[in-house]
Amino acid sequence: MNNPSEKVAIGIDIGGTAIKGGAVTSSGDVLTQRESPTANGSGLDSVIAQIATMVSSMIESLGLESGHVVGLGVGVPGLVDYRDGRVIDCANLPGWENVQVAKLLGDRTGLRVSIENDANNAALAEAKIGAGRGSESMVLLTLGTGVGSGIVLGGSLWHGSDATAGELGHTIVQPGGRRCTCGQQGCLEVYASASATARRVVEAIQTGAKSVLSERVHRGEPLNSADVVEAAKAGDAEGRQAWDESCRYLSIAAINLQHTLNPACIVLGGGMSAAGEFLLANVNRQCEDMMSSRLASLPDIRLAQLGNDAGFIGAALNAFGI
Ligand SMILES: [Zn+2]
Repeated sequence: MNNPSEKVAIGIDIGGTAIKGGAVTSSGDVLTQRESPTANGSGLDSVIAQIATMVSSMIESLGLESGHVVGLGVGVPGLVDYRDGRVIDCANLPGWENVQVAKLLGDRTGLRVSIENDANNAALAEAKIGAGRGSESMVLLTLGTGVGSGIVLGGSLWHGSDATAGELGHTIVQPGGRRCTCGQQGCLEVYASASATARRVVEAIQTGAKSVLSERVHRGEPLNSADVVEAAKAGDAEGRQAWDESCRYLSIAAINLQHTLNPACIVLGGGMSAAGEFLLANVNRQCEDMMSSRLASLPDIRLAQLGNDAGFIGAALNAFGI
């Protein structure tokens, strides 16, 4: 380390397929990082052991004394109660229902442990050192298999009265619409996620629409949102329509957020945000078309900057209490 007295927090981001971790300073500098496939096939205990090994490996490789490590922050892809360190429900990790993960990890590592939802951690990282740096308020939407989100207000994560705030993916944008995994109908994530974007094209082709992607769909190949972007850019009508629809629902979400919270910025992350300016320009244009209210200005929509590292960096910042 450059400065041996500098404090460090360990951040861990648990995903359904991989666990990422890093040793991070209070200003968000990553001193070392790790990644390994999630060993959930062997159950909860093996993942807890895996994380403990990752944590000690980072502490040892940096030669850190115990007094230099302020704590361990952990992100989980599910419903979490940060107040008692409990994972309530986690669809991607079987066996993680109602588990005191903070206590289990605290016993294994000897560190003070804080638990958060993974998108909340990513939002905290983007707000502090990424796309929202310098803003007191920011909302992150991560566009992947679903739509994750986190809300930062007054410089801190907003948890709500039951610690369930920041689930923008389950705000209803289409009453009576498509069924979501959460049980509701018409949730934002079944209309505007990367998966929803690809699914729209697949379904159109399966019901007879012609597209540059038709052959791949008829062969049974899976599509992703990047395929749709490529088709849309090449002028394919189905690709364009699917992309426009996803962007329209994102615009609805952004307008509703602007009227509800008036955040300094709304940040788009996750796999679909790799479309960059092609995504931003479309969402901004549709916001302008729909938002004729004199009550608020257009939202300031930006692209996320920290990529897949946002989760563990935010987990570490959370452990600092930042
Ligand atoms: Zn839902």
